[in-house]
Amino acid sequence: MAKISGEAFAGASGAGTDPARPAWLADEIAAVHHLGTQIAVVVGGGNYVRGRQAESWGIERAEADEIGMLGTVMNALMLRGALTSRGAAEVRVMTAVAMQGIAEPFVRLRADRHLRAGRIVLLAGGTGQPYVTADYAAVQRALELSADALLVAKRGVDGVYDRDPRTHPGARRYAHLTYREAIARKLTVMDATAFVLAGEQGLLMHVFDVAAAGAMAAICEGRDLGTRITA
Ligand code: UDP
Repeated sequence: MAKISGEAFAGASGAGTDPARPAWLADEIAAVHHLGTQIAVVVGGGNYVRGRQAESWGIERAEADEIGMLGTVMNALMLRGALTSRGAAEVRVMTAVAMQGIAEPFVRLRADRHLRAGRIVLLAGGTGQPYVTADYAAVQRALELSADALLVAKRGVDGVYDRDPRTHPGARRYAHLTYREAIARKLTVMDATAFVLAGEQGLLMHVFDVAAAGAMAAICEGRDLGTRITA
């Protein structure tokens, strides 16, 4: 299972979609699939809207969250388009909010069947509920689909560091962390509630740089890239 944030779809501004990005992501996902690994991807939508921006627009949080969930669907459809045009594999987009005519509703056992049949599954709409994020959906889906690991794509950073590497040149990357250490050191890996759930359930998480070519496939092959987080 992989989690790809909306920012991975955006150009330099961090907003909207840069057409080269879904194409890049599709190649990375196809490389994992090519290994014979079952792959599902939870797609974020932060390049369009984040629910916490609601206040600045003067709208209700739940409303902004619904718009945010639709953003995740747009990203997933772009990714489906890019994957399909490569002829990589059959692709299914499954959404947590019904999008009849565009995508299938998420049904755990059906997602499982698609994966077993060798299809790439793109999961959109987050959890379908407000006040949570696509990170939470990624952990939840990884658990309910019994994923071996959750690969967390980051942009501009190749793992978890002791300090922000963008502002601290001497920052050190952790090759391995436990959930307990990450929480005690206040290291921000993802949305805190999602991270706590992953820790409670002992989900293997692997943080990597989405801009590093072949990183996802290399991790699936057992290469020790980025940061591995374990129970
Ligand atoms: N969202 C939500 N429920 C979910 C997943 C997402 O309400 O289960 C909304 C939330 O407003 C979030 C936005 O969709 O800010 C975009 O998703 P997110 O910010 O998690 O995407 P990412 O940061 O991964 O791009």
